[in-house]
Amino acid sequence: MAHAGKGSSPRLRTALDAVPVYVPGKAPASGWKLSSNENPYPPLAGVLEAVTLAAGHMHRYPDPHGTELTDRLAEQLTVPAAHVALGTGSSGLLQQLMQTAVDPGDEVVYAWRSFESYPIVTRLFGATPVEVPLTGDETQDLDAMAQAITDRTRLVFVCTPNNPTGRALRRDELARFLDRVPVDVLIVLDEVYVEFNTDPHCADGVELYRNRPNVVVLRTFSKAYGLAGLRIGYAVAHAPVAEALRKTAVPFGVSTAAQCAALASLDRQAELMERVADLVSERVRVREALLRQGWTVPESQANFLWLRLGEQTTAFAEHCREAGVMVRPYGQDGVRITIGEPQANDVLVAAAARYR
Ligand SMILES: *Cc1c(COP(=O)(O)O)cnc(C)c1O
Repeated sequence: MAHAGKGSSPRLRTALDAVPVYVPGKAPASGWKLSSNENPYPPLAGVLEAVTLAAGHMHRYPDPHGTELTDRLAEQLTVPAAHVALGTGSSGLLQQLMQTAVDPGDEVVYAWRSFESYPIVTRLFGATPVEVPLTGDETQDLDAMAQAITDRTRLVFVCTPNNPTGRALRRDELARFLDRVPVDVLIVLDEVYVEFNTDPHCADGVELYRNRPNVVVLRTFSKAYGLAGLRIGYAVAHAPVAEALRKTAVPFGVSTAAQCAALASLDRQAELMERVADLVSERVRVREALLRQGWTVPESQANFLWLRLGEQTTAFAEHCREAGVMVRPYGQDGVRITIGEPQANDVLVAAAARYR
């Protein structure tokens, strides 16, 4: 029966045809990589040691619930442990949230531009993306997003600070938005850059989720904590959603090494937050230098800056590459520049000056 079926390859889900391919930030052959929002600092000695020790147990499955880390996060955030779900980075949790709330044909609302994975996961599940344009100052238009919600909307992504524009939402405006969304629609507050946010008026998703059963907060160890390569993040949500996230997880996806690295990082939070503070002051320094050169640079609360360059986008990214620094171009919209170590940032600032 070698030729029983039609065609020459297995029939795949047609939803995949509409899935955009994720374009990773390019790594330069030599020079600096400011294209993937990574933390430029290598692991702290104690974190590396914890991972090395954990590697000695790789013949065993990890604790599927990450009990010690879950308890630790719950205590730190003052939430019940049942409200914390670990995932293989917040990317894993994004897919699980789709599996949890969205059927084919349902609508998913988010701002555009925002995180590149939102259209990918939406299409992957055969859902319909409803993309709401950013305002003129590169912020999510919460009024328009509220108005875009229909009876078919099952999930809303809100990214604050927003990737790639860096703009963060204020507590009062976000709370007002959350209260306008019907309670049977899941709202995902993607806060993976929250540790870089220094604006006291900004929202803390964990405070906003407490009395809102349809809000889930996503956080990660990839960005501020510098564990991008180990794949570990977490969600905070009320019990039904958190339980659904545990059901939809890839079994044993979060490795023992990742769990141990996260615990060791929480032990060294003060030291890690000094690095975050250094990156924040570099963010301010680079933005001021670019403003002095005449660029328009929205105020960012994350570890990156956004230049809306329109049709200059590709040329600018290429110019930077030739100058020894990779930035991230987004179509004909603009480039995102990750804040790296000071020398890398200096190369970027000098390259930008020569482009003007
Ligand atoms: C980087 C990023 C993520 C995913 O990070 P993980 O490494 O999967 O935790 C999620 N959301 C946004 C907005 C991001 O920029």
